[in-house]
Amino acid sequence: MSPTRVLVLNSGSSSVKYQLLDMRGGDRLAVGLVERIGEETSRLKHTPEGGESREWSGAVPDHESALKAVAAELAKDGLGLDSPELAAIGHRVVHGGRRFTEPTVIDDAVLAEIERLIPVAPLHNPANLTGIRTARDLRPDLPQVAVFDTAFHTTMPESAARYAIDVETADAHRIRRYGFHGTSHAYVSRETARLLGRAPEDVNVIVLHLGNGASASAVRGGRCVDTSMGLTPLEGLVMGTRSGDLDPAVIFHLMRVGGMSADEIDTLLNKRSGLIGLCGDNDMREIRRRVDAGDERARLAFDIYIHRLKKYIGAYYAVLGRVDAVVFTAGVGENAAAVREAAVAGLEGLGLAVDGELNAGRGDGARLVSPPDARVAVAVVPTDEEMEIATQTYALVKESGNPA
Ligand code: AMP
Repeated sequence: MSPTRVLVLNSGSSSVKYQLLDMRGGDRLAVGLVERIGEETSRLKHTPEGGESREWSGAVPDHESALKAVAAELAKDGLGLDSPELAAIGHRVVHGGRRFTEPTVIDDAVLAEIERLIPVAPLHNPANLTGIRTARDLRPDLPQVAVFDTAFHTTMPESAARYAIDVETADAHRIRRYGFHGTSHAYVSRETARLLGRAPEDVNVIVLHLGNGASASAVRGGRCVDTSMGLTPLEGLVMGTRSGDLDPAVIFHLMRVGGMSADEIDTLLNKRSGLIGLCGDNDMREIRRRVDAGDERARLAFDIYIHRLKKYIGAYYAVLGRVDAVVFTAGVGENAAAVREAAVAGLEGLGLAVDGELNAGRGDGARLVSPPDARVAVAVVPTDEEMEIATQTYALVKESGNPA
């Protein structure tokens, strides 16, 4: 029988997250992560399906050691990388530029192209590449597939993808809006169609991926037509630590008047802005607790967050013309009823509302939170980027007749 397991690797600069999935029934055979790679106090947490988590702490100097440690943990459960059941390894790659519109089997030319994109994704692509190279060294015979965060957004029309700056300058530096969180937007928009009992081609959806990073997308008939992140994941919504949209002149002002360097401003906007910059907390649970306790700064941070969200809902409503569903996903979107309620408050004229009881209720799966007679569905759909990466990886290796 042909192999049916896919190992999904999400390699960050100092972490590797992984999941081993069996594509026959969608079982998660193991999940885990290695954190603080390169420090003395690296940590590995591994949870086999139906079993107890195992944790381990010590020095993991680099990604190669991290992947070897992961392989060793998997082997303890009889799920080692040498298993004949393993069909492929699927890698999350953040930036695929314009070239990668689909998941792609990795060869030397693909690696070179991902490397060529480093200038537009300096934080992410190098770590993704290290993960790929290490995995290839461990199992050179196994198909390795890159699944790009940007791919789902490559269907955006030029009118949405281009910034209104000099065309030659933009093209010389590959400056355009690429968008991110694509695997999540793809998965969630498709699951929303399923929840509505309709084909993805027939529905228009606004997806609000609200996690520590946050992005919105307008999806028409299963294809992305606009998204809020741009050249980098800094544009768009207010996020945990990122500013989202701002007047670009703020940057010149900080340079000329504030005496700050480009790197300092980069850190300010990516790490010390958004919710944490506004109120000192980036966890929505803590912010809501403070709001409920009457904290003014937390209230203002929450209001700014919601105001921006509403602007994007309105904008994407206009972009799509007809909207069948507004769907909330990721850590904040799936869990924070107060965010969902505030985001659609006052939008009854657009056919948008939440039912208080449904919205406050909890549930594991995809669910509607709008009143039964609502013109536009409001839904909560848990995202599953690993499953989407595994699904795309497996489909590709099966199609190319290439499972190991
Ligand atoms: P993610 O990036 O999708 O993992 O989302 C992480 C964020 O989700 C955290 O920083 C919290 O702000 C938020 N979050 C997680 N659980 C809850 C919850 N129960 N209520 C509100 N926000 C939550």
